[in-house]
Amino acid sequence: MLILPEPWALSQRKIQIVITIVKALPSDEEPVEPACNYDLISEIRELADRQGVLILAHNYQAPEIYQIAEKIGDSLELARLAQETDAETILFCGVDFMADTAKILNPQARVLIPDPQARCTMAHMAGEQAAIDLREQYPDAEVVSYVNTTTATKAVSDICCTSANAIEIVDSVDSEQVIFLPDRNLAAYVSRFTRKEIIPAAGYCYVHDAITRESVDAMQKLHPGAVFVAHPECRPEIIDMADAVCSTGGMARFCRDASVSSFIIGTESGMLHRLRSEVAEKKFFSVAGICAPMKQITLEKIKACLTTGSGEVVLDKSLMDAARVPLERMIEVSKTRQSRSFRTREEIRKGL
Ligand code: SF4
Repeated sequence: MLILPEPWALSQRKIQIVITIVKALPSDEEPVEPACNYDLISEIRELADRQGVLILAHNYQAPEIYQIAEKIGDSLELARLAQETDAETILFCGVDFMADTAKILNPQARVLIPDPQARCTMAHMAGEQAAIDLREQYPDAEVVSYVNTTTATKAVSDICCTSANAIEIVDSVDSEQVIFLPDRNLAAYVSRFTRKEIIPAAGYCYVHDAITRESVDAMQKLHPGAVFVAHPECRPEIIDMADAVCSTGGMARFCRDASVSSFIIGTESGMLHRLRSEVAEKKFFSVAGICAPMKQITLEKIKACLTTGSGEVVLDKSLMDAARVPLERMIEVSKTRQSRSFRTREEIRKGL
């Protein structure tokens, strides 16, 4: 439902328009839309353009952030952009490990994060010490760490992966045993498709882990015929219910190309904004909640960042150098091993 401003407000210089945020709870209604200050958006764009700042935003950011970002994407897409850019300053709208990854891959750049306290909870579960302990237990195993990890964890890992390339990365390592951290759900998903023995850590994403069979069932009853698309961070029983599984980058492609017109989306509900923008002719319903740390990034904090230079990412050089090795190894592998955009229920069942 689009809520238009009162007529008197339209004549005012400071026009408030209404934009989309997504309800955290399952619903068949259109999204609720709060007011958004477009003066602030243009001010931010002017500041960024004048200073030559590249603004990157993750798919899970709030809708108003989409309007000031130059590029929106998943972790892998944004990591590549951060590595390749000539911009002297990158402003990263996302959570801590994403801004750290941008700095590690492009140490010459100044990287700013509007709220350094926007911390991915999963990245701080099953970290550096877990990797060290598991290595002691399984000395022949290589350590594959999800990009959703701290810099210290990456520094003790052999190679990184994202949800888009995790299967290909695990298959690329030499060892037959693979320590996979921090996400136990992504580890379980990967183990369906590889012959390697996966040794999982105990972390999880609280947003994806909270999706239940009951909520998916309820949504399917509300929208019979809608295709259920899940993210690989979901629990195994939710993966079993999915018609297709893909990373956020793959979801837009999958939904655009599929012949059906409505989808139940099993990932952080901010993703619906991207899907509704890019595939406007189709309908999307969320079965997931919101990631609170992602929503800590606001227009006001972005403006403060651009005005004062606050929120600069500063990392220890030797730690950064060590963490760059597994990240660059991942990027190299992903150039030669094509990742699949999605897997269907049939392919998941057969482990293809
Ligand atoms: S959605 Fe989950 S994994 Fe992603 S940033 Fe939020 S807490 Fe971390």
